[in-house]
Amino acid sequence: MAPVKTEAIILKKNNFRETSVILSLYTEHLGKIKGLLKGVRTEKSRIPPLAFTPGAHIFALSYMKRSSELNLISSPSLIEYYDICGKENLKAWHLILNLVNLFTQEKEKDEKIFNLLKKTGKILVSSSTPEIVFVIFKLRIIKIFGYGIELSRCTICRKEEEHPFFSGKEGGIVCRKCRGREAYAVNISGRILNVMRQLERMDIEKSGIIKSIPGEILRKINFYANITLNYHTDMDKIWWANEKNLL
Ligand SMILES: [Zn+2]
Repeated sequence: MAPVKTEAIILKKNNFRETSVILSLYTEHLGKIKGLLKGVRTEKSRIPPLAFTPGAHIFALSYMKRSSELNLISSPSLIEYYDICGKENLKAWHLILNLVNLFTQEKEKDEKIFNLLKKTGKILVSSSTPEIVFVIFKLRIIKIFGYGIELSRCTICRKEEEHPFFSGKEGGIVCRKCRGREAYAVNISGRILNVMRQLERMDIEKSGIIKSIPGEILRKINFYANITLNYHTDMDKIWWANEKNLL
């Protein structure tokens, strides 16, 4: 089978046997793929380690297997390594890579995700508010997945009234009247809703204009995003546990 040439962001790397690695990539042309890259953990390998380091933007060849066999990845070359030095920035970047790895299906291509990852990597190199970038990224990827988040009208009756509740299942706000039809809806305050609306509309490249958001507000917004994501997964682990290191 002919290889597919594609750009990719490396989401995850696991060492495999003595000299190889298994990479999870978010590719431009194939969506997420997992594959074996052979023989790179040796001194005589001509592949630079940055070309198989999580977070790097690379070009590579992928040999896609039909059955349950592992795909093969070969000849990775580095296009851009986002030189993210700040400890918090690096945490945000790893949480983002992990989120994409957990919530995307293999071989479901979406260039919007690929482009969002590239933009976010660039921004995190110099952002002074990585926790805000992280939350905007999460809101944005929820929108790309089509899970929400509706913040302007009630997700059940579609009316633009007062919305004191939020439903992860419906992916947005719920009015007082409809609350009875969505027992799992939780309270959301007007203050939080206003900040969330602002972040939800914001282009991630412009995140720098917000100088700071109180931690308690950001954590709440992240919580509403997480219950939305969590409704669409059957993962039984607490996939958001590491986020408390950033938020
Ligand atoms: Zn309603």
